[in-house]
Amino acid sequence: MAGPLSPLRVEVFTIFPELVEGFCSGALLGRARRDGVLDLRIHDLREATSDARRSVDDSPFGGGAGMVLGPGPIFESVEGAEPPRPLYLLGPRGRRFDQRMAEDLAGLGTTATGGFSLVCGRYEGVDQRVADHLVDGELSIGDYVLAGGEAAAVVVIEAVSRLLPGVLGNEASAEDETFTSGLLEYPQYTRPAVFRGWDVPEVLRSGDHGRIERWRRAMALRRTIDERPDLIAARGGISEEERNLLAVEAPISASVDVPVVSDDPAAGPPGGPGDREAGPTTGAESPG
Ligand code: SAM
Repeated sequence: MAGPLSPLRVEVFTIFPELVEGFCSGALLGRARRDGVLDLRIHDLREATSDARRSVDDSPFGGGAGMVLGPGPIFESVEGAEPPRPLYLLGPRGRRFDQRMAEDLAGLGTTATGGFSLVCGRYEGVDQRVADHLVDGELSIGDYVLAGGEAAAVVVIEAVSRLLPGVLGNEASAEDETFTSGLLEYPQYTRPAVFRGWDVPEVLRSGDHGRIERWRRAMALRRTIDERPDLIAARGGISEEERNLLAVEAPISASVDVPVVSDDPAAGPPGGPGDREAGPTTGAESPG
């Protein structure tokens, strides 16, 4: 399948290039690189060191456990490569990476910047001057602490790359899945139709595409109401049309309180553009 006119360029700065390279060589990412859709460049921070031991870390000023990645190799490596920006430092204190940001980053391939870049920390973290004076922002993949930024980098790269044109076999498959629509995805089934006595819902075997579509929308709503009420709140509730759909296809318990908003177009649909945060989500904080 043909790729876009220019590939999305992603540059990664790490002391463990083999970790990033290994993950990004196989399956979907390996194919995206071979097809010229993703231009991934991985920089070994140790190549920017000048001492015989190729040291990248040192003990923290003020004392304390562990080592800190020093600013020298990171500044040298980034300044030498002049990678596409925004340049993000991966770390648990950063802004939370989510599907909307993945969409925004995937769109950078067609802009003047051409892509984005990631710096992976290790040990106890990274000298604060990297965050203050080199990168454009910090990015976290969740509220937990990893041993290094490499796993976070490949999470970001895969989530972004699968949105690039031509990367997924079926272009439609990224469109109605979890988070893209502001809802969790409906349940999926494949053959066999009966497995250990558990049936695939009859509607999915009916061949009635209108019914299937309605059932899937209802199940996506129902699942999101049950499992991620925060997503329902973020889209401002459900519309009257959605409430009626649920009543027919997947009734929710009367004790579950879901706000219903007007179907009046002037009020804007739940999950519509008015519900999105203002401003570009890749908007970078300026380096200090
Ligand atoms: N001492 C740091 C703290 O308490 O914030 C944690 C450092 S962590 C052990 C080492 C590196 O792993 C970080 O510099 C960062 O690059 C990466 N890392 C850890 N958790 C992460 C997360 N949730 N998202 C992105 N990167 C993470």
